[in-house]
Amino acid sequence: MTRYVGTVEMAQLLRRLGPDTVLRRLAACLHADFLRWPEFDLAPRLASHFPHGVIELMPVCDGRLYAFKFVNGHPGNPRSGRQTVVAFGALADVTTGYPVLVSEMTVLTALRTAATSALAASFLARPGSRSMALIGTGAQAEFQALAFKAICGITEVRLFDIDAQAVAKARANLEGRGLRLVCAETVAEAVAGADIVTTATADKARVAILTADLVESGQHLNAIGGDCPGKTELQRDILVRARTVVEYAPQTRIEGEIQQMPADYPVTELWRVLRGEAPGRERAGDITLFDSVGFALEDFSALRCLLDLAGSGPDLDLVPMPDDPKDLFGSVFTAGIDSERAA
Ligand code: NAD
Repeated sequence: MTRYVGTVEMAQLLRRLGPDTVLRRLAACLHADFLRWPEFDLAPRLASHFPHGVIELMPVCDGRLYAFKFVNGHPGNPRSGRQTVVAFGALADVTTGYPVLVSEMTVLTALRTAATSALAASFLARPGSRSMALIGTGAQAEFQALAFKAICGITEVRLFDIDAQAVAKARANLEGRGLRLVCAETVAEAVAGADIVTTATADKARVAILTADLVESGQHLNAIGGDCPGKTELQRDILVRARTVVEYAPQTRIEGEIQQMPADYPVTELWRVLRGEAPGRERAGDITLFDSVGFALEDFSALRCLLDLAGSGPDLDLVPMPDDPKDLFGSVFTAGIDSERAA
């Protein structure tokens, strides 16, 4: 049978275990999987672009388990009461090809994106980083704030969004969760003196949410919103100054901030930094950038972690179970229920 985790069970699981525990467990799974990067069969995601957004399929396999995610990105959706990003996905056992888990992945994507961001920052940000500016306080925002608290020890988050209601929502959701919260009037106010700057905005355009004049030496930039061709958040001059770390270079060169740069722009893949094979931050004054677009391996880690966290529960009636595996027809049209034949 196929284990099923829907939105209700996901919410129950998060409330039962608490976001800090879930985010730390996810970060541990992500870390372990990034360390064994060469074992994975990797490919850039398959994207179908439309005037209003994108739908993507993200497959990956480690020779034992196979995962895929279906995810969209429609920045105009909130105007009609819908979310910008929704997702679902599955994990299968490659020895049989049978799916072992089907899950909602809208919340799981927010969790895994936040855990990946914080994992990267724990290797790239200045040691002792305590404050983070969070530009864009939509659906991803609270997950980012809590992951940076749980995994990097961030104690202060400065919130900025062009939508005051989104800031008020994030503030209310984060209140009482162990963070000092500051609502900034401008991007400049949020960013000044912050150790880490996260950009999580949604706009299907090349915009400069963060400009080079605002970026201070020593800051770590966690840019998660630019994740599609023609959709970026950082002014190009920032990339000229930054040491840039990416998930999977072939995909990020198409989708990330670095789509603004020539094909030979130097980047380091995160797994090499985590394995100690490449430097992350070398000097306190370095500007480090994690140019995150979201990679299939993160969904693989999140799904296998979820299967473990969720334990036993409802199964999905997804795969027929005929007594004779060659008698698929008979499992549907048994004599007892074949009313057409009887008629
Ligand atoms: P969302 O629509 O819920 O929130 C985006 C927020 O950005 C909104 O509140 C909007 O008002 C704000 N915004 C837009 N333009 C702005 C500006 N100029 N200055 C300040 N704020 C601005 O979207 P979301 O689900 O929170 O996703 C945010 C972005 O992250 C999207 O672009 C999405 O595609 C991306 N994303 C990336 C990953 C990844 O793995 N890298 C994963 C999930 C989502």
